Amino acid sequence: MDTRLADFIRDTRAGKEAEEILRSCVHCGFCTATCPTYQLLGDELDGPRGRIYLIKQVLEGKPVSEKTRLHLDRCLSCRSCETTCPSGVKYSRLLDIGRQVVEEKLPRRAGAALTRTLLRQVLPRPAIFRPLVKLGQALHPLLPTALADRLPPPGSFTARPWPVQARQLRRMLLLAGCVQPALAPNINAATARVFDKLGISLFEEAKAGCCGAVRFHLNDQAAARDDMRRNIDAWWPHVEAGIEAIVVTASGCGVQVRDYGYALIDDAVYAKKASKISELCRDPAEIIAAERVKMLDFLAAVRVERGKLAFHSPCTLQHGLKIRGIIEEFLDSAGYQLSPVAEAHLCCGSAGTYAILQPELSGRLRENKLAALSAAAPRMIVTANIGCLMHLQAGSVLPVRHWIELMDEILA
Ligand code: SF4
Ligand code: SF4
Repeated sequence: MDTRLADFIRDTRAGKEAEEILRSCVHCGFCTATCPTYQLLGDELDGPRGRIYLIKQVLEGKPVSEKTRLHLDRCLSCRSCETTCPSGVKYSRLLDIGRQVVEEKLPRRAGAALTRTLLRQVLPRPAIFRPLVKLGQALHPLLPTALADRLPPPGSFTARPWPVQARQLRRMLLLAGCVQPALAPNINAATARVFDKLGISLFEEAKAGCCGAVRFHLNDQAAARDDMRRNIDAWWPHVEAGIEAIVVTASGCGVQVRDYGYALIDDAVYAKKASKISELCRDPAEIIAAERVKMLDFLAAVRVERGKLAFHSPCTLQHGLKIRGIIEEFLDSAGYQLSPVAEAHLCCGSAGTYAILQPELSGRLRENKLAALSAAAPRMIVTANIGCLMHLQAGSVLPVRHWIELMDEILA
């Protein structure tokens, strides 16, 4: 695509990168067919090709309007378009650059700005978020259904015990995260128990916190980079001591940590460390896949027919981390019958804070996703990301679980 960037950005690193991405797009439109928002709205500007065009205009110095922002805000950052694109266009990088410029050139109205500030301040802070969730549970019958449905069911705060720490020779860090320990602490405990069986001890570093994804996707990229630096400082002594990996059980956070090297590329102090952290970042599926023979032996020993389930692969897992088929193999080997799921590449509508900021589109995407997941009458839905888990659970009577919890229960 022929491009002439405006002076304000042309010679910056972001400008050069954006120009290269814009030039790599040949405008073929293949990506449009697999874009969830284009499928719902049928507007070219609500598909990747249209959004690329809008960002090009902004970077070329054309006026930024509320309409520009509307179409960029409606993007889920699901990266389905990247998986489809035959030219390897790095759409999500371009979107981050475009959103940042739009945010700077056109400040949001007071109400919208306040909502975003609250989300940025509350979600990444467990000390505030956890008591709010508990309060919400206590007041459950009094809350509006839309809010009550988003709260975890009573009892979800109970985690099975962690194995004895540091008893294995192999040791890996585990990201505790921000929202997940408040909503579903059993996920990390279950991961630690499964890894212990594989000869790996996991431990959390208390000084680490939110991975930065919440603030990054709310366009507070500077604060997100502070989150990343804090985590790097917290983890670095363990990296120097030779830690094997940093395991992240929410694929949404995993994608962000995998991106630390890129996000801090211009930081003279942190760039190298950030790149090392990205190298060490692993989804649990990747670690278990490296121990595949051992895991399949364990599962074969306890295999029984366990009934039908539907696996929802989060966008961050399949399009972001590009992990496909691994979890499905372990579930199948444990004796579950995996239901076929139509349009499995499409987002469920959770997408970080999208469910809160774009409730109408998010609700329609969830409805479609739940219809696809439930079509073969499974007895539960299984996924790999806390955001998708909570979002789908709020709209379904079927239990929605993290796959690692099933592995833990089966191997117990
Ligand atoms: S598929 Fe790729 S090259 Fe084609 S329009 Fe979409 S982003 Fe551009
Ligand atoms: S990231 Fe997802 S929602 Fe956004 S343009 Fe690409 S496919 Fe569409």
